[in-house]
Amino acid sequence: MSATTEPTEPTEPTEPTRAHAHDALIIVDVQNDFCPGGALAVADGDAVVPILNRLAAHFGTVVATQDWHPAAHSSFVAQGGPWPPHCIADTPGAEFHPDLDLGALDLVVRKAMLTAQDAYSGFDGTDLAAQLRARGVRRVFVGGLALDYCVDATARDARAAGFATAVILNATRAVFPEQAPQKEAAWRAAGIALTTSAALTSATE
Ligand SMILES: [Zn+2]
Repeated sequence: MSATTEPTEPTEPTEPTRAHAHDALIIVDVQNDFCPGGALAVADGDAVVPILNRLAAHFGTVVATQDWHPAAHSSFVAQGGPWPPHCIADTPGAEFHPDLDLGALDLVVRKAMLTAQDAYSGFDGTDLAAQLRARGVRRVFVGGLALDYCVDATARDARAAGFATAVILNATRAVFPEQAPQKEAAWRAAGIALTTSAALTSATE
């Protein structure tokens, strides 16, 4: 696309019905370390994989983010951070879940690649917003891991960047499920819609 792409202005939150060509699916951090058996496993985290695989075909743009850390990253406990070591670059734990359909991805965004920088959001320190605008994307739908950290931050940043934004509730899982209701209320207050994979795919073609 050229520089003629219009800037995306904030729009009223929508109740999404069906995805289309100008919608993007953002698959957040569906990596081995965040799935059962991983270093920072989210309970039932791998359950989102088939849901996201099925949804991908309905979107004009499919993005996957990857947490991608140096071995002594500032977010790790040994460096005073809150988390056990996870998603260390070029290790199996940082790879996508083996069942995620990589062929459906248009774009992969890696984040928090510098020792001193952490990033929960796929927009933080990346060119994701510009990449989406260049593709004509106006609405963003977010799923993946984890609901209460990187999905939350990614959805908030998408909204702040001017995209109509929704979280796909059945396509995400929380580190602390008890935090989910508060997050959902905060999303509504921020103009972020809540939807489900069924709502996105049930309308007729
Ligand atoms: Zn991380």
